[in-house]
Amino acid sequence: MTTIHTRREQTVDKPIAYLRDQNSSHLDWLIELCRIPSVSTKSEHAGDVRRSVEWTLEKCRAAGLQAEIHETGGHPLVYAEWCQAGPDKPTYLAYGHVDVQPTGDLSLWDADPFEPTVRDEWLVARGAADDKGQVLLYIRAAQAWLQSEGRLPINLKLLIEAEEEIGSPNLEPFIRKHADLLACDGVLISDTGLARDGQPAITRGTRGMVYKEVFLKGPSHDLHSGQFGGAVVNPATALAEMIAGLHDADGRVTIPGFYEAADVPTQQDREQIAALGITDADLAANVGMKQLAEGEGGYTPHEMRSVRPVLDVNGITAGFQGEGANTIIPARASAKISMRLVPGQDGPAMSAAFDERIRQLCPPQLEMKIETHGSAANAYVTPADHPALLAATEALQAAFDQQPVYLREGGSLPILAMFREVLKAECILLGFASPTCNAHGPNERVRLPDLDRGAETVTRLLGLLGN
Ligand SMILES: [Zn+2]
Repeated sequence: MTTIHTRREQTVDKPIAYLRDQNSSHLDWLIELCRIPSVSTKSEHAGDVRRSVEWTLEKCRAAGLQAEIHETGGHPLVYAEWCQAGPDKPTYLAYGHVDVQPTGDLSLWDADPFEPTVRDEWLVARGAADDKGQVLLYIRAAQAWLQSEGRLPINLKLLIEAEEEIGSPNLEPFIRKHADLLACDGVLISDTGLARDGQPAITRGTRGMVYKEVFLKGPSHDLHSGQFGGAVVNPATALAEMIAGLHDADGRVTIPGFYEAADVPTQQDREQIAALGITDADLAANVGMKQLAEGEGGYTPHEMRSVRPVLDVNGITAGFQGEGANTIIPARASAKISMRLVPGQDGPAMSAAFDERIRQLCPPQLEMKIETHGSAANAYVTPADHPALLAATEALQAAFDQQPVYLREGGSLPILAMFREVLKAECILLGFASPTCNAHGPNERVRLPDLDRGAETVTRLLGLLGN
């Protein structure tokens, strides 16, 4: 073995030993950070959000990273880096957030959401899982390498924002403006979950989303149904028919071109979903139904939840909602309708196709207005052969002593397609939150051994990426 070879093939033993030695002080970090009520949705917490960003800056510096705070149009963010591994080593950007959701009804919490409590193996606090515990993994891993080896095996950049829970309004402008600073070979994100407790997972994809609202206007005011029923088009009835017309008898969406560009799931995708081993009966029981929907022919309910495009009504408003009877023909009716998109489908094109279809379905007697909420986001899937995906698989296997499973998330993370577009970098989603972590809900919690294994995973991953 040559000297050059031993120098290049980083061994992970010292950083792992350092990390294990620090587990209890890293728990103190998490407790300190969770004590800061960094609720980004509430303006009265703006000072706390800033405090969480300043705290993060300090810990990045303590770990040995260069770090600075960047002001945005809203809450500030932290950028940190260590980029002395040299140009022959890859550069990875880790992204996460230190803002949190509001607590909701305090009476549903067993303790103060901002006074973290350790219960058995769990830490209970708002933000413990989403995303404070997880974003710290990258600082812990960087510290382990820098303090034990004096260097990182790769060039590492951290981007930690504080507006994720309000839809990251300033993130995209920041990334576009600082695309050179943030240039990287891949983006690492830990803001998802394990498949089951103890079962590591890589989330390989998320769906895109388009959210529409349709407003119908009939008569200038509510009419007496006894006097006008059957004589004027009822906007509530028309809306119900229009909504029904968005699916055919086989459960397929009737928007022209909806399925044309949609990628058909591969055999491997379908096998990975089946391998999760959740039965339809379990899923039905979990949601309190006797039976699941038939959905689009030829696909299982699990496939409908992640790799097929779907359209759903999220809300309907029309007519009299009060107590008792009021015999009217409503003047107005409206519905909120969302589409979850898969790779291949273009968000803006699907948005336009929806508008065209709903216009076809609208009776000529009614006036219609269509609004789009948010931006039309495209789906995202990490390429199966990305080197960081393979390295992450190996790192998870080593840290958890179990082969990770690949998940396709049915929800949407618009930042993924944005990272790909602006930085030309793919995203790897390694999640360590328990399926029972109750993120966004009362008694949010994180399992501490999973976080420790997560820190070990990231530490190993940096080593693997550098080799
Ligand atoms: Zn999150």
